[in-house]
Amino acid sequence: MGTVAFIGLGNMGLPMALNLVRAGHGVAGFDLSPAARQAAGEGGICVAASAVESVRGADVVITMLPAGRHVLAVWEEIVEAAQPGALLIDSSTIDVDSARAAHGLAAAKGLHSLDAPVSGGTGGASAGTLTFMCGGSAEAYASGKPALEAMGKRIVHCGGAGAGQAAKVCNNMILGATMVATCEAFVLAEKLGLDHQALFDVVSTSSGQSWSTTSYCPVPGPVPTSPANNGYKPGFAAALMLKDLLLSQEAAAGVGAVTPMGAAATGLYQRFVAEGSGEMDFSGIIAFLSEGAFEG
Ligand code: NAD
Repeated sequence: MGTVAFIGLGNMGLPMALNLVRAGHGVAGFDLSPAARQAAGEGGICVAASAVESVRGADVVITMLPAGRHVLAVWEEIVEAAQPGALLIDSSTIDVDSARAAHGLAAAKGLHSLDAPVSGGTGGASAGTLTFMCGGSAEAYASGKPALEAMGKRIVHCGGAGAGQAAKVCNNMILGATMVATCEAFVLAEKLGLDHQALFDVVSTSSGQSWSTTSYCPVPGPVPTSPANNGYKPGFAAALMLKDLLLSQEAAAGVGAVTPMGAAATGLYQRFVAEGSGEMDFSGIIAFLSEGAFEG
């Protein structure tokens, strides 16, 4: 088992790094937050004094950070200290341009790299069932796969540099739009006198079906595990949904793609988050739609 450095031990990074420890990897970790470093140490991660220290001697380096600027700042430092032949993987959700710039930093030092954002949330991170969407060379993908398999159940090679982030923003743009459409349908059904369960029974097996209905139904009842049954506690927070939708719009603007549904979903989540609901699960937007808060 190779040695892995893990930088960014937050809500996602810590449980991912702990799964690497469980799989038998030696893991060196670093986070700016003292609380994150303490939790990592208690979980058997060898806590380093800095990001640069953590990558010394590592075969694989993984970053799990808030945004593109954090990733580029860390990668600029660590490419100088990584050992020859090391593979750098960024699993944060960031903009495609920053992901490509990170690949460029690695390539300039002769290092392999992957962008490998994840789907599955903190539950998937803890359970080791994440989906990884990978962008990079076939060689980098092959060398990164064993470490990713310790943290996920589905590892997909999407294409070259940035392709993983491209897949992530496209998937989450669909998710944001289908969640809004699903919420609108449940609100409309209620006003038409239709029972939630009846609509679920039809839609979940008909052409309107999507993950937003079958796995994450935004009304209490039909799907017992959905956040609607738990006061809309996340789950997947609306603020994170908005982050990903904004990335999708940035990506669309960059290549001149026309995404009016994505733009509409982004606008609705902007208003929902501005109302102070950023910490609520993203399916909680149904309350605002049913209250007519978005009229006009
Ligand atoms: P988080 O804020 O809990 O963790 C980020 C960590 O990075 C923090 O502990 C912070 O201290 C650390 N950090 C920031 N700058 C650093 C630096 N320069 N050096 C070292 N550590 C630094 O965020 P999270 O929920 O773990 O999300 C991480 C990434 O995963 C984000 O890009 C997010 O969009 C993505 N993501 C999150 C989820 C989710 O459900 N939380 C799901 C999929 C993807």
